[in-house]
Amino acid sequence: MSAKAPTIGVVSLGCPKALVDSERIITRLRSEGYQLSGSYEGADLVVVNTCGFLDSAKAESLDAIGEAIAENGKVIVTGCLGKEESLIRAAHPKVLEITGPHQYEAVVSAVHTHLPQLHDPKIDLVPEGGYRLTPRHYAYLKISEGCNNRCSFCIIPSIRGDLVSRPANAVLKEAEQLVKAGVKELLVISQDTSAYGVDVKYAESKWKDRTVRAKFYDLCKELGELGAWVRLHYVYPYPHVDEVVGLMAEGKVLPYLDIPFQHASPNVLKAMRRPANQDKVLDRIKKWRGICPDLTIRSSFIVGFPGETQDDFETLLDFIEEAEIDRAGVFKYENVDGAPSRDLPDHVDQDDVDERYDRFMEVQTTLAHARGQAMIGKTVDAICDGWDEDAEAYAFRTKADAPEIDGVVYVECDDEIAEGAITKLEIVGGEGHELVGVLAAARP
Ligand code: SF4
Repeated sequence: MSAKAPTIGVVSLGCPKALVDSERIITRLRSEGYQLSGSYEGADLVVVNTCGFLDSAKAESLDAIGEAIAENGKVIVTGCLGKEESLIRAAHPKVLEITGPHQYEAVVSAVHTHLPQLHDPKIDLVPEGGYRLTPRHYAYLKISEGCNNRCSFCIIPSIRGDLVSRPANAVLKEAEQLVKAGVKELLVISQDTSAYGVDVKYAESKWKDRTVRAKFYDLCKELGELGAWVRLHYVYPYPHVDEVVGLMAEGKVLPYLDIPFQHASPNVLKAMRRPANQDKVLDRIKKWRGICPDLTIRSSFIVGFPGETQDDFETLLDFIEEAEIDRAGVFKYENVDGAPSRDLPDHVDQDDVDERYDRFMEVQTTLAHARGQAMIGKTVDAICDGWDEDAEAYAFRTKADAPEIDGVVYVECDDEIAEGAITKLEIVGGEGHELVGVLAAARP
């Protein structure tokens, strides 16, 4: 016999915008299997969407909250009056949670906390960990949408808008479900991961028996408690990243930072509308390596940006050597439709772009080769990505290698090794991004 589906009631006050908010909340909860009730007694929990436009509307909203508490007892408040949390708490201290206007995800997350969904594998089309396009053992975890930066080559902010961070507890809940569903590695992504929470002023949300701020460090710390590898992508070198590097040194998150530097020459960075103080960046990287000597830094760069001179390009090559960028991806500049960089003067000849790209690749290959050789003889933790038909060997990745973009360690082995198995490997050979290892346990 299946348990009764959790049922919510919604009281919607105020203007049409508030009504649309209520509809969105209901749509989302219905899609997750919640039932709706038109009465207080038929609901397990009531959401009151309030209005705070006029004093009379505030009074009406406070009355509605009071009625819902008296009739049902479990009440979550959202909407315009949610901005005045202290007013609501003073009148109705029993309210479970309060969120402001247009915070659908925060409301849905509060409902999940106080009235958990049922997961019935026989009727639910979506598995507990959700549908994913990645293999079972790793998953991308998106923590925000949009971006507050305005890099001149990029059209993402014009398409996706400014940064909108997910509540910390919504991210953590998804991460926990993924881990429960067998995920061994969480790949944290967004457009600007280290800016997480800036838009919501680092809002706190309830997670288990504590509150967690929507802040880069706090989120990483909690993710580090879930028992999976946590890999951070699209981080910018802001000062507060230092403390996250401390978590890497403690082994809570992987000692890996994917930082899209894009360039190193101040002239080009300025034209790209990106921070242009490379001395500070080098100091910061040195500091990080002092905190966490195992740190791997991956980055991506653009060559041939409008106005890039040969000197600028040489500055870039010097930077990847001096900063000891461990993994570097390079792209040729493209005139993307709608990007402000199209209108910049001094576009670089395609022949020069191609030549710079080739030179970058040469330098990068030499550096990668040296790094690969330095790995030989080391014993490292690695995760199995499964059997590789072409190599006729198991493909593993070390903590220094993200899936799809970094290196691989091939292991020939007659025993079956499960995808996602994490084990110690001794690196015994190979070149550049393709190394050869043996199971350390198999060595005498
Ligand atoms: S390149 Fe990245 S940081 Fe810059 S505007 Fe685009 S999304 Fe934001």
